Amino acid sequence: MENKIEKEEAPSQIKAALQARCPRCRDGKMFIGKTYALKAQKMNETCPSCGLRFEREPGYFYVAMFVSYALAMAEMIAACVGFYIITGYMEGPWPYLIATIGTVILLSPINYRYSRVILMYWLTPGMEYQPQQERTLVEKP
Ligand SMILES: [Zn+2]
Repeated sequence: MENKIEKEEAPSQIKAALQARCPRCRDGKMFIGKTYALKAQKMNETCPSCGLRFEREPGYFYVAMFVSYALAMAEMIAACVGFYIITGYMEGPWPYLIATIGTVILLSPINYRYSRVILMYWLTPGMEYQPQQERTLVEKP
């Protein structure tokens, strides 16, 4: 009973985005598998819950590369600042280079995933939460 009532409420946008759910129904998963799965990251072509086509036009996800670039830059700066705060090292550039490259490599699956999430949630005009979509499909078995 309680679960049914909760399903009627709109899921929070941030929570849905963090879980990489479909931006329209906030229910279906955008990606197959986990962020750090050993297999290559795969994306569902359409939302398993509401049928929204994720790649709305050819080349749509190229824009995500720019988002990914911005994320990587922010992470590199954070890695440098963090490295300096922790070690206080100022002798040369190499430890910083290793720290930044290591951080970006470690976080690249996250960047890949969330660059697309950010693109779909906040950079695509007309991509909005539509609860009716979810309701009609949930009621149909
Ligand atoms: Zn959906």
